Amino acid sequence: MTKYPIELVPPAITAYRDGGTGIDYVTTFDSGKPGPHVMISAVTHGNELCGAIVLDFLFREKVRPTAGKLTLAFVNYRAYLTFDQRYPGLSRYIDEDINRLWSPEVLDGPRDSDELRRARELRPLIDGVDLLLDLHSMQTKCPALMLAGPLEKGRRLAAAVGVPEYVVSDVGHAAGKRMRDYGGFGDPASAKNALLVECGQHWEKQSAEVAMQAALRFLRHSGIVDREFLAAHIRGDSPPQRFVTVTGPVTIKNDDFRFVEEFNGMEIIPKAGTIIAHDGGEPIRTPYDDCVLIMPSRRMAAGQTAVRLGRFTPD
Ligand SMILES: [Zn+2]
Repeated sequence: MTKYPIELVPPAITAYRDGGTGIDYVTTFDSGKPGPHVMISAVTHGNELCGAIVLDFLFREKVRPTAGKLTLAFVNYRAYLTFDQRYPGLSRYIDEDINRLWSPEVLDGPRDSDELRRARELRPLIDGVDLLLDLHSMQTKCPALMLAGPLEKGRRLAAAVGVPEYVVSDVGHAAGKRMRDYGGFGDPASAKNALLVECGQHWEKQSAEVAMQAALRFLRHSGIVDREFLAAHIRGDSPPQRFVTVTGPVTIKNDDFRFVEEFNGMEIIPKAGTIIAHDGGEPIRTPYDDCVLIMPSRRMAAGQTAVRLGRFTPD
């Protein structure tokens, strides 16, 4: 099923079902003092374990805000609860990807699915969140990266958090809007801000450590959690970040699309015009020097995104 060993154990989360918000698997701690509403979300995709490990740690350590509010949310907990390590890829969602539903058109629309019901249930809560960190992981083993969205404020938040090293600016997916781009998060005039971190391969041990360090630094930046606690758990330094801007997707036209080699992501192709794939006999070439391959897919079907291409930008 997968060539990657499963090095992580999904934590039991049933103890976190009633978090006092009236929404299952969403807990809000309120300091009672003024300050931002800060949220960390996990298992937006049910097969991505690293975020659940981080939330479990924050619950066990009894982390509480000293100002504002802190929300810890298991977004697609229903999919997560179906995780079976014999078929680890199957628990991504129940009906559809919940991270493609975050536009008013879809949320207010007539469609129904398990994930739409969950998104609609979460929406009033998300409407009140000022600062969001959404923890994810990836199909392939490649360097961790932040998805900072298309706006300057997203890049600034990525820089303030500091790890992981790669910061990718992108507009998201044609298939639908992500939670990190919803409402005020995607509005340049709003002070609200969000960051999505892809912490590594779904099952690799290191992804949990990347998620932990990103979450602790995110909380430090938010200013609502005791700094001594954070300092005791923040490890490693933050090397200078590298900023990449997505210039566009490679969309698959034919069902026989094939990469010329097995790319895992964040490969840098030095020369413009290098062939990276063949699509129905047509060569796919890199459009510029030092082209970065971002999150190549393993799901190859016409109409899908095979890979996104990006170029380095100053910051
Ligand atoms: Zn994900």
